[in-house]
Amino acid sequence: MNDALSKQRQLDDFKAKIIADRVTPDLAVTATQLVFGDGNPDAEVVFIGEAPGKNEDLQGKPFVGAAGKFLNDMLEMISLKREDVYITNIVKYRPPDNRDPLPEEKQAFLPYLESQLEVIQPIIVVTLGRHSLNCFLPDLQISKVHGQPKRYKGRIYLPLFHPAAALYNGGMRQTLIDDFALIPTIIQKIKLT
Ligand code: URA
Repeated sequence: MNDALSKQRQLDDFKAKIIADRVTPDLAVTATQLVFGDGNPDAEVVFIGEAPGKNEDLQGKPFVGAAGKFLNDMLEMISLKREDVYITNIVKYRPPDNRDPLPEEKQAFLPYLESQLEVIQPIIVVTLGRHSLNCFLPDLQISKVHGQPKRYKGRIYLPLFHPAAALYNGGMRQTLIDDFALIPTIIQKIKLT
């Protein structure tokens, strides 16, 4: 079986396990559906956001609203398509009224997110926003470390601002675009080491 197919099967099993394990049952009731992840299971880059919003909840895919459109534009800028990368969130059910995910909700999904990354084995994990960064690296501040690759426990993370936060904030928007443009060079450097 080829790598991508075998990885996709393992990811499908984790998706089913979230439902079987009744992770965050309160969110499961208020959400339309589980938004597990989307893209290439054999990707070199994995993007991790915070939690699904309204559009994601309705379509069952991460980053399909305005922030997703911005993410797609930035991917195109570095000659990548959504199908080349893998995109997911920490919390996989939409929190009601788009509130921030609670610490216990993030904690509940973390083992499944870890399993996703174990299967995909990306070269780099791009965290989008502070919730995503602080899940893996709790002591770092996004405003200080954005755009700087961080090696931690055998993995390389690139902290970026969240596209939804940057979308309507001119300065932050340009910073995110500039940081995003570093991704191909960072990947090349990692491949050479
Ligand atoms: N914001 C996120 O963090 N994730 C999504 O999937 C959409 C918006």
